[in-house]
Amino acid sequence: MELWFTEAHPSHRGLTFRVRRVLESRKSRYQQIDILETEDGARLFVLDGMVMLTTRDEFVYHEMLAHVALFAHPAPRRVLIIGGGDGGTAREAIKHPTVEHVDLVDIDEDVFELSRRHLPETAVSFDDPRVHLRAEDGAAFVREAKTPYDVVLVDSTEPIGPGAVLFGAEFHADIHRALGPDGIMACQSDTPFFDGETIRTLHRAVRPIYRSLHLYLASVPVYPSGLWSFTLGTKGGAAGVRPRALRTPPADWRLRYYSAEVHDACFALPPFVAELVS
Ligand code: SAM
Repeated sequence: MELWFTEAHPSHRGLTFRVRRVLESRKSRYQQIDILETEDGARLFVLDGMVMLTTRDEFVYHEMLAHVALFAHPAPRRVLIIGGGDGGTAREAIKHPTVEHVDLVDIDEDVFELSRRHLPETAVSFDDPRVHLRAEDGAAFVREAKTPYDVVLVDSTEPIGPGAVLFGAEFHADIHRALGPDGIMACQSDTPFFDGETIRTLHRAVRPIYRSLHLYLASVPVYPSGLWSFTLGTKGGAAGVRPRALRTPPADWRLRYYSAEVHDACFALPPFVAELVS
């Protein structure tokens, strides 16, 4: 008998994977967590029926969430990651030699535990002495933060359940306060094809908070529509000016999606997307 996992997407579409075996399935305090092995040998991390990552192409999302902000900052030392309990975004952040301290704040300790057990490709960052795991609500953590951060990366779920608070103006005002003078925030902001209103509402709510606010895109095959957006806000710098890459990644990092050219290109928005943030 063949086993298939299907994530239903808006407008009567979906994405389906042939499953070889279920590695672990657990109801945590916050969400249903499933780790599946697919027929192509990859691992699938699913929360509340939504695909968070597959080990086949997670590099796209993690490189684009991390490096656009980190290469735009003059010398990032302290990084805060909210969500991202699989460890992939932290893995990219610690590639930067200037990074001395990473707080990785995910509300669900079970995500840390299951990622360490089944997702070594991303959870490898947990063993780096610069990375500090904190099982806490990210909104409360950033509200209480005392020592400024150079870069804040929000690697959240959809704006539902525990993730909803991470799309609000209050949360972003707290991030802005927690950023140092050249501080940069980047967050995942869903797909322009199915979640245009999420992007429009987010930008309307947080535009007054940041010196400049920008949307950029990347193709993430396992997310609804395959076209994903990210939002970047700056605390310093010139108002409205898009942050350029101040350095390029060394070849030995072997990045597979992010590059200085992609950094420049990813901010070029098709008219139906530009309209959402105009
Ligand atoms: N890349 C994925 C996406 O775009 O859908 C997100 C991956 S990451 C695993 C999402 C994480 O956000 C989950 O592990 C979840 O536990 C965490 N999360 C949700 N709400 C949170 C909150 N309020 N504070 C901290 N972490 C939260």
